[in-house]
Amino acid sequence: MAQKDDRVLLLNAPRLPLPEDKVKELAGDLHDYAHAHGLVMRLSTDKMSSEVCQTTPLTLLPSPFPKNVFDEAVRIQNLYASLYHYIAYDFDFLIDIHKNVVKTDEFTRKMIEILKKVKEQGLKQPVTLAIQRSDYMCHKDQSSAEYDLKQIEINNIASSMGAHAERLTQWHIRVLKALEVPDDVIRRAIPENKPIPMIAEALFKAWSHFNNPDAWVLVVVENVNQNQIDQRHVEYELEKLGVPMTRIIRRTLTQCYEQLSLNESSDLLIDGKPVAIVYFRAGYSPDHYQSDKEWEARERMELSTAIKTPWIGLQVANTKKTQQVLSEDGVLERFIGKPREARDIRRSFAGMWALENSDEVTLKVVQGAQKHPEAFVLKPQTEGGAALHTGDEMVQMLKELPEEERGAYILMEKLRPMIIENYLVFAGKPVTFAKAVSELGIYGYAFGAKDAPELKTAGHLLRSKPESTAMGGVAAGYAVVDTPFLYEFI
Ligand code: ADP
Ligand code: MG
Repeated sequence: MAQKDDRVLLLNAPRLPLPEDKVKELAGDLHDYAHAHGLVMRLSTDKMSSEVCQTTPLTLLPSPFPKNVFDEAVRIQNLYASLYHYIAYDFDFLIDIHKNVVKTDEFTRKMIEILKKVKEQGLKQPVTLAIQRSDYMCHKDQSSAEYDLKQIEINNIASSMGAHAERLTQWHIRVLKALEVPDDVIRRAIPENKPIPMIAEALFKAWSHFNNPDAWVLVVVENVNQNQIDQRHVEYELEKLGVPMTRIIRRTLTQCYEQLSLNESSDLLIDGKPVAIVYFRAGYSPDHYQSDKEWEARERMELSTAIKTPWIGLQVANTKKTQQVLSEDGVLERFIGKPREARDIRRSFAGMWALENSDEVTLKVVQGAQKHPEAFVLKPQTEGGAALHTGDEMVQMLKELPEEERGAYILMEKLRPMIIENYLVFAGKPVTFAKAVSELGIYGYAFGAKDAPELKTAGHLLRSKPESTAMGGVAAGYAVVDTPFLYEFI
């Protein structure tokens, strides 16, 4: 994955910056395209309704991304899907590695409690579905100046933004044509991007496996969903495959508590009909469980015959803690038997360290982070792009974190992504030309019982954010949806 020369050129890519009037014209076209194709989001000031939506935060053009790094991410996605599929079934491993996290992290503790109940009672539904997006940066190694694929995190729950990414790829092809980039260059530079048909296919397989035409697809949603339209595209695609629209329902966890019941055969019922699939587009954040009711609803689902995506084992496997433990010597290799495959996955790991022990290695790395805060980030076990500790704040936290809270955090090498330039388009604001960094996500699924799951990879997301922003997340307002313009070194 070696590139020594950054001057390689995207010979046929549009030269930037573009003339101002051209940018205005293209941005106007982009807003039309976005609204005509459902590339829109609800307003942050009115997340309850789709009556007025606005263009999703986007880039005007695709961003340069090295083809070999992209290809590597696609190549290893099935390995990641199978890795997490297997980890999810290893109850004792998951319980053990979170034993210090649960001391202070109540959310993880509640999940582990449900996991223990599932372990006691046995799986009522042996078949599981992982719909996954693995996120990476194209990291520039400081010493070798080479670009490497390095994983930021894995998302086993509510993997979103695929509908936007898919549509933006189509727009980016149009904009390149408008800028007279030759068709053969576009074909090579813009990879096919179809995550939504794949996600719908996975859900359809699970629904068909349940083998009851009256059974529900239950989409678990937040009380407010700013990204509602992205979710809807999945449902509409699922209808196209043959799930009747009357069998797909959206419910919050609170509604699930009120409306779901378990019968004596452990079927999960709504209105007297069984649930075939629970598709969680919520349930990954403590805010989604306002009281014990929501936890009780979750437990009912986990103790039922419904196919969950994700099931509790897979969600516990989703933590940053699991990611860090996998990076320790020999751990990943327990789950991936083929040395070459384990090596391929391991190559994509960034440096990660636990904080819970006071051995020499831990003390050294903590000292290192305090001395060189620019080279590390500190992460808690939360999801959703809101809580990354960097710089002086991180140093302060490392100093002050009480002993019992340390287990809930991991320390990670700060990645230095490739810097690109692009136009960022936020609805209602002037288009800005910015230096930005990108995060690549690859979608895939694993479906089946414990042994030999069916695996598939399709589609990707690029999210870009101004170089100076530490956090990520489109919904969180930091990043915009983007797509890669693949280039090869010559
Ligand atoms: P979340 O579950 O909240 O999405 P992430 O691990 O994806 O957690 O972190 C959120 C964001 O923080 C990422 O999208 C990325 O922009 C930034 N980030 C996370 N880890 C690193 C890292 N090791 N180096 C640089 N940036 C990081
Ligand atoms: Mg993330």
